[in-house]
Amino acid sequence: MSPTATHAVPSVYRAALPDEVRVAIVGSGFSGLGMAKGLLDDGERDFVVLERADDIGGTWRDNSYPGCACDVPSHMYSFSWAQNPNWTRAFAGQEEIWAYQRDVAARFGINPYVRTGAGVTDATWDDDEQRWTLTTDRGVVRARFLVSGTGPLCEPKYPDLPGLDRFEGTTFHSARWDHDHDLSGKRVAVIGTGASAIQFVPRIQPKVASLTLFQRTPPWIMPRPDRPIGRLEGLAYRRLPLAKELRRARLYAELESRVLPFAYVPQLRGPAKQLALRHLRKQVKDPALRAKLTPDYDLGCKRVLLSNDYLPSLDADNAEVVTAGIREVRERSIVDADGVEHEVDTIIFGTGFHVTDQPIADAITGREGHTLAETWQRTGMQAHRGCTIAGFPNVFMLVGPNTGLGHNSIIYMIEAQVTYVREALKAAAERGAASLEVRPDVQTAENDAIQARLRKTVWNDGGCESWYLDENGRNTTLWPDFTFVFRERTKRFRPEEHVMRDAGESHVAAGGVREAVPA
Ligand code: NAP
Repeated sequence: MSPTATHAVPSVYRAALPDEVRVAIVGSGFSGLGMAKGLLDDGERDFVVLERADDIGGTWRDNSYPGCACDVPSHMYSFSWAQNPNWTRAFAGQEEIWAYQRDVAARFGINPYVRTGAGVTDATWDDDEQRWTLTTDRGVVRARFLVSGTGPLCEPKYPDLPGLDRFEGTTFHSARWDHDHDLSGKRVAVIGTGASAIQFVPRIQPKVASLTLFQRTPPWIMPRPDRPIGRLEGLAYRRLPLAKELRRARLYAELESRVLPFAYVPQLRGPAKQLALRHLRKQVKDPALRAKLTPDYDLGCKRVLLSNDYLPSLDADNAEVVTAGIREVRERSIVDADGVEHEVDTIIFGTGFHVTDQPIADAITGREGHTLAETWQRTGMQAHRGCTIAGFPNVFMLVGPNTGLGHNSIIYMIEAQVTYVREALKAAAERGAASLEVRPDVQTAENDAIQARLRKTVWNDGGCESWYLDENGRNTTLWPDFTFVFRERTKRFRPEEHVMRDAGESHVAAGGVREAVPA
């Protein structure tokens, strides 16, 4: 749990694990909570939410670094079925979002289904029994269906720096912030300039003796239109549900309109670039520093960041931006590629997450005895509707391949996928099917279309390297279009796109020919 936490954790989280359930959900972040609520709405009670940590919340529990906040407006960054009239700011901070998640879990009756300390280390498909055997830190659970809600921002990524093991000072990742380590008066190196670093750098800069920021690529930074939500406005959201709905609808339309410059009309990026460059000119007086902080790729290629205090914090006397790259780490210093030695006491990694090589993929072994990681090594990370995967019956991935967003709230996508899973489970139940598996040809066709669609978007064509792209340069992370298009596609589960089997029925017919059971 975050060391900043002060709340009581429900004791039911430590209750015994069930031996067997219909649905096992892995992870209790927004995906896991949304899935649990969807199952409860369908009258499903035979499920469990397996959480590796000792509390719920996922990335919003783990990321407790100073300044951690959402860069999607709060009224959009929440479940449509649990809109919060009490947000205190236009962009809520981590503690408030985490409290919102706990409130949702309590209010909607999800808590009794959560089991903590139950990290899933292995999930293997039993083709005879047509169910999953999950090995967790607290024992074995068997499940007919497996929903992975572990998400792409689950496992911190540490850079492989020569000499790092020699370093005698303190090191930690932004997603595992060491709150016991007092940064006051320390010489601090920060590696990375992504969405996390730009939030914590301005918070730590005033208190450290020196801040050395190792920047590989400067992000595009826009003004952050944050503000407290005043008493009257808050009252309106509490008393007039329509006011809340209207705010959300307006935010949705605003955020959604960004698909136009990013994916359809590149010329529309011009004004946004001008705004970002004006922001930089206003906030950084030193022309040499400004040059270092000016991106040389198209706006949107990497996530566009929002901040009013990051750039000024780099213009401070105790801050230095190093763009030369890192040659090696020594006992008390970092030597950059120009040979300059920077003395440091602490190194903070703002180096992101294992997005295109998610660890859960190593833990899941499918019908043919291969892990999901091995399968994706061959094909690239892919799924159907970002959710079901050929060779992996009864698995659903939430925020799976190509469902991430560079422009709107991921919770909207999670809700769409939850609908899809619910429809799939209903279809299986109606047909008395024990398992369902997407047809490989259906999966391939959809992924070819997604990749073709991505080709001309800024996310692929914007002249940058980003974590949206895998080691082969394929964008396996982002949804390339409007989110309402995704919602439309996930509204209905199409049995004809899947192979469904009754219990005991062999999946592959004689001769290795796959047969789709007619709907
Ligand atoms: P990130 O966006 O992946 O940024 C990682 C940073 O580390 C980049 O600047 C990267 O440089 C740099 N880096 C990585 N390896 C490096 C190395 N070996 N040497 C030097 N630099 C290195 O990670 P993040 O900032 O933690 O954010 C991850 C995602 O979390 C975000 O994009 C966003 O989706 C989410 N997030 C959201 C919010 C929010 O408000 N909703 C807040 C924080 C994070 P390059 O750019 O050159 O690769």
